Amino acid sequence: MTDKYLFEPTVTTVPIEGRTESFPVRRIYCVGRNYAEHIREMGGDARQPPFFFQKPTDAIVHDGATVAYPPYTQDFQHEIELVLAIGKGGRDIAKEEASAHVFGVAIGIDLTRRDVQVEARKAGRPWEIGKSFDRSAPIGAIRPIADRGIPSTGFIELLVNDEVRQRGDLSEMIWKPAEIVSKLSEQYRIEPGDLIYTGTPSGVGPMSVGDRVKGRIESLGAIAVLIAPPGE
Ligand code: MN
Repeated sequence: MTDKYLFEPTVTTVPIEGRTESFPVRRIYCVGRNYAEHIREMGGDARQPPFFFQKPTDAIVHDGATVAYPPYTQDFQHEIELVLAIGKGGRDIAKEEASAHVFGVAIGIDLTRRDVQVEARKAGRPWEIGKSFDRSAPIGAIRPIADRGIPSTGFIELLVNDEVRQRGDLSEMIWKPAEIVSKLSEQYRIEPGDLIYTGTPSGVGPMSVGDRVKGRIESLGAIAVLIAPPGE
């Protein structure tokens, strides 16, 4: 073995509130459906169980970043979400044990190429092209939950140019954070460094170049990104 690399590997990290260390990201999981109103606006059935998809870790962008309008879409949309940051690994985790595996929580935005996502869904193809593209995962600093626990109530909202587009409450989640961790750990071994985007309330919609997009969750503050002209 050698520690020489052909080129320098990149480690994706997320800042942690009140800490000098940052959180190294291993995988990004997202819940596909988790608020009844959003499932209705997407034409789905709220009784179906949620499902998971992934984004690449280098899709992470931080609070205050600019996000170039991505290629290959005419319908670039926002989804505000509570994010869980996993601090302890495991498999087949009982929901009663799940919060012990969560290090902290953050505000995230699941950026989506809605037109190609819907096209892929109709054609029975994978969602990757609609969900797993460059810079598609804005996230704010992780707040350690310590003994506070995972927030289960409180508003979650998204504003575009100071106008509210999405507004819901964490209590409206169909699958609660502990159940999400439990379900996910039946399908994959979760590990420290995993992030889980827990789904979005209704009101998803398109963004344009120049838009100032702000995500807020009651107990977590706010994050902002600027949609920039198409670029590199
Ligand atoms: Mn989403």
